[in-house]
Amino acid sequence: MRELLLVRYGEIFLKGLNRPYFIRALIRKIRYALRGTGSNVWIHDGRIFVEGFEDLETVTDRVTRVFGVHSVCPAVEMPKEDFDAICAKAAAMMAGMKGTFRVNARRSDKRYPMTSPEINAEMGGRILEANPDLRVDLHEPEHVMNVEIRDSAYLYVKVIPAVGGMPVGTNGNATLLLSGGIDSPVAGWMIAKRGVQINAVHFHSFPYTSEQAREKVLDLARKLSYSCCGIKVHVVPFTEIQLQIRDHCPEEYTTLIMRRFMMRIAERVARNTDSGGLITGESIGQVASQTMEALGATDSVVSMPVFRPLIGFDKSEIIDIAKKIDTYELSSLPYEDCCTIFTPKHPATRPKKEKVEEAEAVLDVEGLIQAAMEGIEVVRV
Ligand code: ATP
Ligand code: MG
Repeated sequence: MRELLLVRYGEIFLKGLNRPYFIRALIRKIRYALRGTGSNVWIHDGRIFVEGFEDLETVTDRVTRVFGVHSVCPAVEMPKEDFDAICAKAAAMMAGMKGTFRVNARRSDKRYPMTSPEINAEMGGRILEANPDLRVDLHEPEHVMNVEIRDSAYLYVKVIPAVGGMPVGTNGNATLLLSGGIDSPVAGWMIAKRGVQINAVHFHSFPYTSEQAREKVLDLARKLSYSCCGIKVHVVPFTEIQLQIRDHCPEEYTTLIMRRFMMRIAERVARNTDSGGLITGESIGQVASQTMEALGATDSVVSMPVFRPLIGFDKSEIIDIAKKIDTYELSSLPYEDCCTIFTPKHPATRPKKEKVEEAEAVLDVEGLIQAAMEGIEVVRV
């Protein structure tokens, strides 16, 4: 007898002929998440199994965070010949459970001496005998004891929900504008969940923003990289651009012009890293630079899709996700972001694109972007 984790995948089911490709990608990601645990991951009969763990809790925790995993079931594999032993094990696995249950037998070995309904009835009876707090309900049971008779017998009853989504890397790359705030890590996580490999760009205005602010962003990227399978963070020196904007542009447009520089630089990083789009943590109306007009004025400087997965979310909803993915505490550390220095007292909330372009025209836009690109430091987390 051995203990295993049976991994169930979700949306990959929809994939028709491409399914083997998605399953292989999922297995790679599960292996990546489990590195260092000494576990084995393999596929058998269209099912993914994990085995060889000392610490089931850690393994379960890591596997349930892998995008593409729908749920995991702690399972037992045993020789199928000894039906008494299988029933005894099933009864033991349900010890302490209350409420209703049924047995759900599946038999792919058609030479097995009992049919599925026979297994259901016999095993159900034995479980009842051993667990007087349980009752049978065939239609809406609270617990289902699954028995699969294949090359061996497999038993599982607990289903632990996982994150869902699709395996990272099966839907291309995108570049995340990652600040130290609450929103952008959540935005990156949501797009990565759909199978997208994330690159990050962070704008840093040393010495106006501190070394701790930069470290905080790298720590956030590290948190994300558990699910996102490694992230390259491009740290862009942004001080000179901000000083030039502060000194030469009308105050009401400074934030917007800064955001346009961010988008242009992020787009260049995206093209250099084979990304098909940009990701930001913006949500309509959250701040002056996120009104419809302001978003239009920042979008107009780039020619690739800009994904804003939080666009319709309230701050409280974003915070709930940040807590769930464990970035909230880090994001709440009080270090300055380059967005929060030199902020105008009265930013334009309904900026006209032509006015912004005019205000920006006094700057050597291309020269400033070039210099920033040359100063990029790439950190792999
Ligand atoms: P966050 O909570 O993620 O900081 P925010 O609500 O504070 O977002 P802004 O500061 O206006 O909003 O920034 C909007 C978006 O611009 C962020 O979600 C992020 O994608 C991007 N951004 C802001 N500051 C930076 C930065 N220093 N480096 C990279 N991207 C940034
Ligand atoms: Mg911010």
